[in-house]
Amino acid sequence: MRHILSQCTVVWCVHQLSEIQVLSDKKAAHFRELLEGRIAELNRVLADAHQETQTLSTRSADPADQAASEYERQMLAHKIASTQQMVKTLTQALQRIQRETFGECAHCGGDISVKRLEALPWARYCVTCQELIGQ
Ligand SMILES: [Zn+2]
Repeated sequence: MRHILSQCTVVWCVHQLSEIQVLSDKKAAHFRELLEGRIAELNRVLADAHQETQTLSTRSADPADQAASEYERQMLAHKIASTQQMVKTLTQALQRIQRETFGECAHCGGDISVKRLEALPWARYCVTCQELIGQ
């Protein structure tokens, strides 16, 4: 019993350590996959949105329909812009993995916890700095 307990403690310590350790190659690969998957997904969203924009602009309609189309067109433009911004953010995170600065806070230079990166792989700041900067 005592033996099992001490083993658990060791595992727990290792787990705690891994949260503050520099990203291992395995972790880096994991985040790269995560980011690439997300980018591919967003690119599909972009392709669809562009397709819809095409459809809207070729649709001839009466004035009431045109007003509706104009609204749809603006919504699409907004969607495209925000998706493009997200792709950019994710691409920058990928570049940080390549430069091995991924997981490093851009403000204080400290480590961003792996837990935070799991939730927000594109995070540029640690929790403390993010709160300081605000958003
Ligand atoms: Zn920081």
